[in-house]
Amino acid sequence: MEKVERVSELRAATKAATRRGQQAGFVPTMGSLHEGHIALIRRACADNDVVIVSIFVNPLQFGPSEDFTRYPRSLEADLDACERAGADIVFAPSVDEMYPRPEAETRVVVGRIGDVGEGVFRPGHFDGVATVCTKLFGMVGPCRAYFGQKDAQQLAVIRQVTADLNIDVEVVECPTVREPDGLAMSSRNRYLSEEQRKAATVIYGALSAAAQMAASGEYRAQALLDRVAREVEGQPGVALQYVELADPVTFERLDTVEDGAVLQLAASLGTTRLIDNIVIELRGSSSVSL
Ligand code: AMP
Repeated sequence: MEKVERVSELRAATKAATRRGQQAGFVPTMGSLHEGHIALIRRACADNDVVIVSIFVNPLQFGPSEDFTRYPRSLEADLDACERAGADIVFAPSVDEMYPRPEAETRVVVGRIGDVGEGVFRPGHFDGVATVCTKLFGMVGPCRAYFGQKDAQQLAVIRQVTADLNIDVEVVECPTVREPDGLAMSSRNRYLSEEQRKAATVIYGALSAAAQMAASGEYRAQALLDRVAREVEGQPGVALQYVELADPVTFERLDTVEDGAVLQLAASLGTTRLIDNIVIELRGSSSVSL
């Protein structure tokens, strides 16, 4: 496995692979890798000849009061994990390498989808994600890129951006990897105290309970949202920021479950903000896995 820090080295490596006729798989991450990331890397290895993982905590996608400076960083452990998972190239650039002209103002603006759902609480977040991913796609070149359902709205944003900007990237969606008790794996879970970690299981429990209701024929958003709110708010130490039923493509709010819907929420445990979601489908085929 090769670790590269410069854009020029990344380009040289991916161009050489393309010249050899190899298919590239790309897994963008912010590091602090866990089994959710590893599942993406393994899937990319299964589908492609060469796998590139990027590790970059992107300042553009953090708001001024968010956790950019304290976001966990563990490059050495991440490199080991990438190697064990079968990655070929890890691109771990500095902020200066990614944004060499701090005054540079070119941004990818995602429009409406960036202002709904998560975007209401994280203004500018999805423009930051879209900008860094567009830059990374430009550096890697044509590839399959792997994203987790854990960040369902981000996945929809990336699909929109690649389609609207005609970027030659096939977006591959991978299921959310969970702890045995259902908590979605997240780099931010390591902020949790032991007590908070236990309390956090209510998040997936509540989403699953609502999904079960939908599977039994309850399609009204309000009934599902009330159920989630009641469960989460009943758990001391967990503050529900929002829960909503959203269209899986536009992330506009839905009043009823339509062909497919995403029930997504954000909740805080102390200063740690966690997000999770569950996909709800019509005709009793909800993707509950507990
Ligand atoms: P991050 O490092 O948090 O920016 O995540 C990098 C990629 O890993 C994104 O596509 C995430 O959706 C994905 N990811 C994060 N957590 C999980 C998880 N628990 N299961 C599956 N994919 C995940």
